[in-house]
Amino acid sequence: MKTSELFKERKVFSLEIFPPKPDAPEDTIYKTLDGLSFVKPDFISVTYGAAGGNNCGKTVQIASDVKHRYGIESVAHLPGINLTREDARMILDGLKAQGIENILALRGDVPEGEAPRGEFKHADELITFIREHGDFDVIAACYPEGHIEATTMVDDIHHLKHKVDAGANHLITQLFLDNRHFYNFRERAAIAGINVPIEAGIMPVTNKKQIERMVKLCGVELPEKFVKMINRYENNPVALRDAGIAYAIDQIVDLISQDVDGIHLYTMNSPLVAQRIHEAVYNLITA
Ligand code: FAD
Repeated sequence: MKTSELFKERKVFSLEIFPPKPDAPEDTIYKTLDGLSFVKPDFISVTYGAAGGNNCGKTVQIASDVKHRYGIESVAHLPGINLTREDARMILDGLKAQGIENILALRGDVPEGEAPRGEFKHADELITFIREHGDFDVIAACYPEGHIEATTMVDDIHHLKHKVDAGANHLITQLFLDNRHFYNFRERAAIAGINVPIEAGIMPVTNKKQIERMVKLCGVELPEKFVKMINRYENNPVALRDAGIAYAIDQIVDLISQDVDGIHLYTMNSPLVAQRIHEAVYNLITA
């Protein structure tokens, strides 16, 4: 099923997972999926590390297992920064062969001190390419606080509009910790004529290192109440996990009340966290 169909029926609740690290046993991902399948999400998306290049096969395999073994719709992430057009064509053929119908088309992060090896400078070029080479639904990334490299918010929204015009059917946001950024962004997008569904990407923060990495990578703002929470519980992992879950639930309740199109949960491969959040918000999403 194409994921864009889902938004016609209801608010969407989706999950994101990443393939196991090269040194982790292969079957860890299936333990994660066993736990996540209880949540019965509308779809699960599987990341693809742009830098490594060697886990593309894993992304395709896991996305295929999500769909065929677990009976849950899947989305394969595809960053184009290090791909030639021939690489991309072969990956699309592999996805078609596995019956995968949805792709999250990305540029990928530019590696520090390294020139990108691929032929897709920006995500819009990859979206156009995917549209020309198969019958896929294409999803694109967006940034409520602006992408970290963007010169201005206005430029960033223009570039987002290019992605939608190139054929993105729906958008998923980078994490944000203050919902006001999402509402302001949604308004800017509407003014720019972007009228595809926008899912809010929510990351339940369960350890301090995780958030420090995210801030460095994505430049998200840390609201004062969030910083106080992290500082209070940083030496108590269980309390910090519970506080992170409560914070994410609070964000989601507010987003649903303000008629968000969908929630995309960055699960960090933790079924427990996803289950607890889903249990807390399920009746609100379906009401
Ligand atoms: P683009 O849309 O190309 O934008 C990148 C920058 O270039 C922005 O500043 C934009 O304003 C500017 N820009 C865009 N188009 C143009 C243009 N035509 N001309 C000039 N400037 C332009 N990374 C991975 O490696 N693997 C993943 O699996 C992955 N999954 C992600 C999932 C989500 C939901 C999100 C939000 C991000 C994900 N990322 C992933 C990270 C993503 O690759 C980075 O944020 C990357 O830096 C930008 O990707 P993009 O597709 O948004 O790029």
